[in-house]
Amino acid sequence: MDSATTRKAIDLSHHLNELSRSRVASPLKDIIKYMKEPGIISLAGGLPHPSFFPFGEMNTKVYAPAVDLHSSEEPSWPIELFIPKNASSSHKNTLSAALQYGSSYGSVSLSSFIREFTSRVMAPAYSDFEILLHSGNTDAWNKVVNILCEYGDYILVEEYTYPSAQALWAPMGCRGVPISIDKDGLVPESLKSTLKKWEHTHPGVKRPHLLYSVPVGHNPTGATLSVERKKAIYKICVDFDIIICEDDPYYFLQFPPYVFPSQRKPQKTGGSSDITSENMAFNRQAYVESLVPTFLSLDVQGRVIRLDTFSKTLGPGNRLGYFVCNPLFAERLLRATEVTTQAPSGLSQALVEELLNTWGQEGYLRWLMGLRDSYTTRRNWMCDIIAENFDLLPSPLNIVDDVVAVQKGHGLTKEVVPFFSFSFPKGGMFLWIRIFLVSNATYQNMKTTSSSNAIATARWAEAFWMDLIKEKILLTPGSYYTPIIGVNERMVQEPDVVFFRLAFSFETREMMQTGIERMANVFNRWWM
Ligand code: PMP
Ligand code: PLP
Repeated sequence: MDSATTRKAIDLSHHLNELSRSRVASPLKDIIKYMKEPGIISLAGGLPHPSFFPFGEMNTKVYAPAVDLHSSEEPSWPIELFIPKNASSSHKNTLSAALQYGSSYGSVSLSSFIREFTSRVMAPAYSDFEILLHSGNTDAWNKVVNILCEYGDYILVEEYTYPSAQALWAPMGCRGVPISIDKDGLVPESLKSTLKKWEHTHPGVKRPHLLYSVPVGHNPTGATLSVERKKAIYKICVDFDIIICEDDPYYFLQFPPYVFPSQRKPQKTGGSSDITSENMAFNRQAYVESLVPTFLSLDVQGRVIRLDTFSKTLGPGNRLGYFVCNPLFAERLLRATEVTTQAPSGLSQALVEELLNTWGQEGYLRWLMGLRDSYTTRRNWMCDIIAENFDLLPSPLNIVDDVVAVQKGHGLTKEVVPFFSFSFPKGGMFLWIRIFLVSNATYQNMKTTSSSNAIATARWAEAFWMDLIKEKILLTPGSYYTPIIGVNERMVQEPDVVFFRLAFSFETREMMQTGIERMANVFNRWWM
């Protein structure tokens, strides 16, 4: 019977672009296998001698995986990592190897840790999936576009999408095809109708064959796709032969639903004593089960290229992540890696390998759970502070978000003038607000002097943003995330509404408090 352990990826080679199909392996790579032959004296490779690397050994201290990140005291660093210069029977991870040229596959030990982790947590639905290290999801997306897209291709994207992803393909003359999203992410019906109507809307133009999606804690809207939506989207992608690129940096940051402070039970955040508790194994399994399955785990054909990164779990400066994909795409991505980055930085690989092998699979999961708890707390801070500075009302039916924010103290008594609506993030780092301009007098004035409502909306957004900055509160304008649909042409934003993105990942609670108070001042002034 066909099962995940016997099923193999189907042949999707027709998706490769001309560039990738034409790329051959560097002849120098053939030499490497002979270098490892016992007794061989190699005068072939141009390797610098390791004695010329001016690094002796690496010592660093790290957290225990169950560190209490909520602690008001500086957490301790009880685990010492040590990477020697040269190999010994007890230590295979060395600086001599990390600093040397090596295979573009990257560290075998790190890749096998990742493979075991991926098998457990994501349970890919086919057996011959491959892991290939990359230098972060930015690098990974560059490589995906470079093996799949031709100049001028159309790429399916969420209606608001990650700007760096677009900045990569825009100069190739590629265009985004915006697919509708709501508070639960990409809307399958919109994807289907776009593809069904393609020949009518774009006669003679090649149908898009790549969907770029950020399925969890979407950047910028914070939305997380449910498994039902993922299944529906996957089916459409099978029917229309679309490759899904799942850019999923926030996967491990999936939160329980937001609860107002008055209804909240005291939260157990987990401290270092938890690691010895018998409940921990159960908790880790419950954590894994609480995560919405990935596109990868639904992928019975091998049409998902999953981009994972350590940026949000171990620090973006590591510049380290990995692809999970079918063997054919992995081989083409490897060829593209050989001629670009060669491999992620050896020092990063060595350090992350040492950390993960020391923590172990269970330890890494424990670390991720702690991060999930910490970001949940930060999500709560931001939502609590917004609730302290605005009155939050349940959204009327015509507004898709969870709540509408109105002026503090006015909402329940006077006629309600909505400032903005938002949904409580269920993952990631971002909260996305939708500001309603219809009731705003400045906007009404701007409309009389603008050639269209969309232009008035853009003018209002710019002026409001500048005023926020004057008040010393910086948000990211929603316009940054609109799809690029042509040369120097962005999707026209919906008139009468303006979006901003707020990140709850970085500032302290006190800073967030001051920042949102400043934001409330600006709102109150603009609706005076
Ligand atoms: N260009 C030339 C001419 C080289 O000889 C080498 C190294 N053999 C490289 C590029 C690769 O350099 P790097 O390790 O900095 O990527
Ligand atoms: N993709 C998305 C959706 C992101 O939000 C980010 C970081 O903000 C990245 C990619 C960049 O990831 P990396 O640091 O792995 O290149």
